[in-house]
Amino acid sequence: GWVEADLTEITGEGGERPDPGRLPVVAVVGRPNVGKSTLVNRILGRRAAVVEDVPGVTRDRVAYEASWQGRRFTLVDTGGWDPDATGMALRIAEQAQVAAELADVVLFVVDATVGVTDADEAVGSVLRRSGKPVLLVANKADNQQVELEATALWSLGLGEPYPISALHGRGTGDLLDAMLDALPTPPPQEAGAPRGPRRVALVGRPNVGKSSLLNRMAGEERVLVDPMPGTTRDPVDELIELGGKTYRFVDTAGIRRRDRELKGADFYAAMRTRSALERSEAAVVLIDASEPLTEQDLRIISLVAESGRAMVLAFNKWDLLDEERRYYLEKEIDRKLVRTPWAIRVNISAKTGRHVEKLGPAIDRALESWGTRIPTARLNQFIGDQVRATPPPVRGGKQPKILFVTQASIEPPTFVFFTTGFLEETYRRFLERRIREEFGFVGSPIHMVMKIRE
Ligand code: GDP
Ligand code: GDP
Repeated sequence: GWVEADLTEITGEGGERPDPGRLPVVAVVGRPNVGKSTLVNRILGRRAAVVEDVPGVTRDRVAYEASWQGRRFTLVDTGGWDPDATGMALRIAEQAQVAAELADVVLFVVDATVGVTDADEAVGSVLRRSGKPVLLVANKADNQQVELEATALWSLGLGEPYPISALHGRGTGDLLDAMLDALPTPPPQEAGAPRGPRRVALVGRPNVGKSSLLNRMAGEERVLVDPMPGTTRDPVDELIELGGKTYRFVDTAGIRRRDRELKGADFYAAMRTRSALERSEAAVVLIDASEPLTEQDLRIISLVAESGRAMVLAFNKWDLLDEERRYYLEKEIDRKLVRTPWAIRVNISAKTGRHVEKLGPAIDRALESWGTRIPTARLNQFIGDQVRATPPPVRGGKQPKILFVTQASIEPPTFVFFTTGFLEETYRRFLERRIREEFGFVGSPIHMVMKIRE
């Protein structure tokens, strides 16, 4: 079985929304030497040299971007997952389980010249239980004789076998057509559709300048908008233009209301921050740069990171800073904001208007990272390189292996690591750092989930 572990302290609800951008995943499973890699190469339209006549041979790449009839998908070759040739046979069923978990469709390859083996039975029962669509591939049906024998594979209980010859290309077209039919239907094209102004929460402890900033940004043309449909509370949003683009600042009524003298105002302020974050895609955290960072500032920053929203840190009241304060501020930032070095920073003054125009591009940049997707093949190649150069530390005498990585969703970017053991926090942070160095993600939290083979 597999256990799921959260790699970060960050566990917002942000990762669970449907994700139209993800390519469907097709996994090729089966015991060694049945022709998985040959089939993968056939689908990719090339005869790669990595196929060897050795069971369990190591291949260092496992995921590819592929297409058939113009439909794109990610193709995963599980033949490359375990470099340990002796242990491999025992692990095929487990690999099939991983494959079934991450795939939308599974191609289960069996050697039709050999017939059903115990290992095939084991894989078959894992796949039947998974509930995922499975296409049973009767490979090495190079001629009609074998093709006839392939009917014996009905006994696996996975429906009609597709007789093919991966080597010669026989029958693979029909197989891929069937695979396309089994893929989940693509979501309606939303790419061209206008998505409306991006939703931004302006948060920060009392007196940092939130309402001053709102006034500065909104100027004369304040546009109030009704709460979004489906919300029961009374928040009022404001459409605000920054650099020619319109943003929807959510729940600004709470900021403008001068209720801080009320009893329990802190409690309500905290509630408001949470509800504004819930309704937003990005947050601008306003900080009074003229005073030392407080616990409350740090709590709000953590809250934003945990909510999984894109983040801009706006250091306000910059007009009040002298050289000494600027020096100490940098020290404080280095010391206290170590968990969110990825947040985008702008130094502004709501009073003078200094650099307020930079907020728009900063929000855009953060939201772009928030919606970024790394193709599975590229991600696995990159993580594979990192792991080879710097393997995970040995734990309990064992070296955990990373079998496969996929970015399961965007907004926020969420990565799922399939591993053979627990990855230490330092190693997880190392991987996150490398991912950020390579792919950016400036302004966006990254969510990491680990699935560990028990
Ligand atoms: P994998 O371990 O499942 O990835 O298997 P490979 O793709 O490495 O193939 C194992 C062996 O079977 C290789 O020698 C292939 O050339 C051979 N093979 C693969 N597909 C076919 C096929 O359709 N017909 C025949 N005759 N041999 C095949
Ligand atoms: P809020 O509680 O976060 O909405 O903060 P306010 O907008 O009410 O501002 C609190 C105080 O800080 C007010 O006296 C503002 O005039 C002052 N203030 C806000 N922004 C700036 C700024 O950029 N520079 C200076 N010097 N004062 C500011």
